[in-house]
Amino acid sequence: MSEQSFRYCDVALPVPLDRLFTYELPLTLRHRVQAGCRVVAPLGTRKLTGVVLRVHDRSPEYESREVVSLRDEEPVLDRELLDLAHWIAEYYCAPVGEVLRGMLPLGGETRRSTQYALTDTGRQVARQLILRPESDASLRLLATLEERARTAEQLTPKIPNARTLLRGLTKRGWVVAEEKEEERDPLRAAAERLEAEFLRRADDSLKLKKAERELLAFLELHPGLHNLAELGTKVKRASEAARSLARRELIRLEMEGVRPAPGYERPKPILNAFQESAFLHIDGALQKSEFKTFLLQGVTGSGKTEVYLRSIEAALALGKNALLLVPEIALTPAVAGQFFQRFGKQVAILHSAFGDAERAEQWRRIQRGQARVVVGTRSGVFAPVQNLGLVIIDEEHDGSYKQQETPRYHGRDVALVRARNAGAVAILGSATPAVETRYNADQGKYEMLRLPERIAQRPMPEVEIVDMRVEFLETKRQATFSRSLMNEIAKRLAQREQTMLLLNRRGFSSFVVCRACGDRMMCENCSIVLTYHRGERRMLCHLCGFAAKVPTVCPKCSSDHIQFLGTGSERVENELHEYLPTARIARLDRDSAGAKGAFENILGDFRGGALDILVGTQMIAKGHDIPSVTLVGIVLADIGLSIPDFRAAERTFQLLTQAAGRAGRGDTPGRVVIQTLNPDHYAIRFAAAQDYEGFYEKEIEFRKWLRYPPYAAFANVVVRADKQEDALRMSTQLGYLLDPQPEGVRVMGPAEAPVLRVKSEFRYQILLKAAKRPVLRDVLKRLRAFAEKEKWKATALVIDVDPITLM
Ligand code: ADP
Ligand code: ZN
Ligand code: ZN
Repeated sequence: MSEQSFRYCDVALPVPLDRLFTYELPLTLRHRVQAGCRVVAPLGTRKLTGVVLRVHDRSPEYESREVVSLRDEEPVLDRELLDLAHWIAEYYCAPVGEVLRGMLPLGGETRRSTQYALTDTGRQVARQLILRPESDASLRLLATLEERARTAEQLTPKIPNARTLLRGLTKRGWVVAEEKEEERDPLRAAAERLEAEFLRRADDSLKLKKAERELLAFLELHPGLHNLAELGTKVKRASEAARSLARRELIRLEMEGVRPAPGYERPKPILNAFQESAFLHIDGALQKSEFKTFLLQGVTGSGKTEVYLRSIEAALALGKNALLLVPEIALTPAVAGQFFQRFGKQVAILHSAFGDAERAEQWRRIQRGQARVVVGTRSGVFAPVQNLGLVIIDEEHDGSYKQQETPRYHGRDVALVRARNAGAVAILGSATPAVETRYNADQGKYEMLRLPERIAQRPMPEVEIVDMRVEFLETKRQATFSRSLMNEIAKRLAQREQTMLLLNRRGFSSFVVCRACGDRMMCENCSIVLTYHRGERRMLCHLCGFAAKVPTVCPKCSSDHIQFLGTGSERVENELHEYLPTARIARLDRDSAGAKGAFENILGDFRGGALDILVGTQMIAKGHDIPSVTLVGIVLADIGLSIPDFRAAERTFQLLTQAAGRAGRGDTPGRVVIQTLNPDHYAIRFAAAQDYEGFYEKEIEFRKWLRYPPYAAFANVVVRADKQEDALRMSTQLGYLLDPQPEGVRVMGPAEAPVLRVKSEFRYQILLKAAKRPVLRDVLKRLRAFAEKEKWKATALVIDVDPITLM
């Protein structure tokens, strides 16, 4: 609590406006509100939760409204995280309110609802109609709302089309919608996962109920944590009693931590010489307690994780805490298990797939200092870790670190800024570092640590390239699998070894074309073709999810000469079943991993040996360490190469190298078969040779020549609108603003985006390159100011700084 009392506060609200809102504080709150606390404040007819950035006594120029309520007695964001939010807002040109919203995963602590209430006019109308028979549904609705405000869900059982009616009544000004947020006890949300522990005996003066006395006695006799649901079988009314005891601080209640799945334990190995050397460098930096960044470049299977684990141990021993980020798809039970095994209950896991209550609880455990090792995906970079000593970004090249909606931040880069501000040591780990990262290391910004060999001197896999054009000429057959790949798969089956097959495209056929009129079946909302999904018997759009029936005749000319072309992962799985009827095959892609737990189950089955072959998209290429995989087949390496994006080659190289790296991680050497139509493309050649250095030298040359990152700061500005004329007009307006080109900035466009229409919106884009970042930022700010001045819809202008895809 602060000594001083202030009259106003500046609040960042989660709205797409680049400004703060000043509110007056009610007397009762004046000495309680601090920067970093959340308050509920009115905006228009809504009540929104925002974060206080400042408290002060300067009265604003406009008449300010009052804060409704205070959500936190203590700040939920400390100075360090508030500064980080400002940095993100500035660097990525995003409203600070939207940045802050993404930083707090506390949605699970509240229940949000929209309540409808009568306006004064509405009330008058309702009064008049009380006298009349309730013939009309709208009138009945008004009468119901006159008693008290209600949500649409509450109204619907009585008045079936309540939602539509409410919209009409709102338009007439008789009804207003109000956002309500109520506190919810996060512990109540997960009763079956609560654990109780004895703290102290009750004083004699305390009157306890029978159930409470019994429970307290039981816990005292059985030290440690006890699951409440299980206690319920031993002690009557345990749950209610436990809450009451916890309120009096006689026992402690906590949500059971995320438990590691059993079976992933590994002994703590002795570091090999390369690991040891890398660790010593990191440890040395930790001892100095200064910001320093390492690039840990280690080939696939070189034991990078063990270096992370030791470095975290070293940080903890120094009394510091650690944060480790991993790509979304790579945070599997196997990975989590390794950390639980080493650090036990000190680990918190922050995964975007967790439910709201779970996320909120993990977040609180970190904030309270109970969890000192945080393992998280992208947004884990905002974990409220105190006393941060070590930040690790595993697979730092991974595209999932970049958020594809506002604020479009890059988790890796934010993590580095955070480490710098905290004076922490940072480790970027990868077998295939991003070109920018490796460039920074070469420039001396990062210290390079190398793990050039696989653990136990296991060989790198042997790679064979199969030219599918030659294969076609020789076999006169358009086949999914070459003879060589089939042969290798059959060998693995005979030897009871496992195979992974990668095809980075889901669905069965990638498009449908009519041979009579040439028409391709397109999405109604996007300018891309629909993909045939055989399992679901539908044509699906991979951008917006639009679904159509599978055609039997051409929708345009009714000819029945329609052809399903292109291969997806579903078809690979299907054909394999035909060729190898006895093989146990499963598929892992976004379709098959959709159901809850499906991803873990399939991967677990494969790891446990219940499957022979795993077919999948890039999901199977990331990080998995499965020793009995001795063959990796890339069904078609070229997918992704033709995408109009300067990173296409880099991404292909990374994907192929990572996928190949899944082979031969156990005692038997691995083999990789890469099928391709472009055997001479440098991305494919260097991936086949597992030659990062070779690829990097070629790629950096090309980036320098064309002034692409890291040789320029880069931004993609996209204008979106429902009508093509609007998108065109608005992007042209931006074009005028940039003509003549601002000093030091190269402007490309406006031009149609590579996919003109996405989710029913037309898109035009302007690419901006600048030698210096501040210049670029100024230009972006000007564009944003223009959009605000012209009152463009908030979603119309997209600014993507350091974009990783230009689609
Ligand atoms: P990377 O992430 O570099 O691809 P991993 O961290 O997955 O490699 O390590 C590969 C395998 O080697 C894992 O099974 C790991 O447990 C094991 N490992 C790591 N370090 C050692 C070591 N020093 N001695 C023996 N095994 C090790
Ligand atoms: Zn046709
Ligand atoms: Zn679509």
